Amino acid sequence: MGETLLDALHRLQEIELKLAEIRGKREVKIRLIESRKRKEKQAEEKLLTNERLLRERQMRLDSLSLDVASREESIQKHREALNKAKTNKEYAGILAAMNTEKADAAKIETAVLEFMEEIQTLKDSTGKAEEDKRKLAEDVRAAEKLLEEYDLQRREELANLQADRDSCAEAIPPTTLASFTRIAQSLEGEAMATVIKLYPKRDEYMCAGCNMTISLEIVNALRSRDEVQQCGNCGRILFYDSSTVERK
Ligand SMILES: [Zn+2]
Repeated sequence: MGETLLDALHRLQEIELKLAEIRGKREVKIRLIESRKRKEKQAEEKLLTNERLLRERQMRLDSLSLDVASREESIQKHREALNKAKTNKEYAGILAAMNTEKADAAKIETAVLEFMEEIQTLKDSTGKAEEDKRKLAEDVRAAEKLLEEYDLQRREELANLQADRDSCAEAIPPTTLASFTRIAQSLEGEAMATVIKLYPKRDEYMCAGCNMTISLEIVNALRSRDEVQQCGNCGRILFYDSSTVERK
């Protein structure tokens, strides 16, 4: 006797579960890469913001330094004018203007010092952000390596499983295969569930996938015909394994 449709589906199910396990493990590794990439991107953004602030502050500092220089030049001119003043009134006027200029220059110098301090802080934090970014890039690389190694380890097994799945699928009618695939996709590869007998001496059964009762009508159909029967609750294709069900 050849393989029945339900046996073929059951075999396909075993293959699908192994494939789903491999996919699941890959998925965990992919998520690790993604989360590390997000952290790396945040560090990169922080670095870019720092660099932009640093350029802005540096430009302000340059223009303030020019301002200080031109005010010093102007103070020097006032000083020379003071020596040439002809009247007391003229002298007092020049002195007053020179003092205003000196007060302004002092304010700007204070601002220059503040900017210099801020620039130093930004430089320190930029250095740290560069270091963070470098470390996080290494973390991303390490996570990518884990996935590469995993793929390499499971490559042969995966190819074999895919070949098995293809040959197994050939024995199954396209519409049945399509619904199997649809259910498998929505239930992480678990398209089938075995039927469990609840009590040794009573005809009460349940679906091992969702633990809901299965009618005797469906169980009888499974026992007598090689046809697809789905669980009315979870939709899994039911598999009746007489060697395990009837042992209970
Ligand atoms: Zn079910």
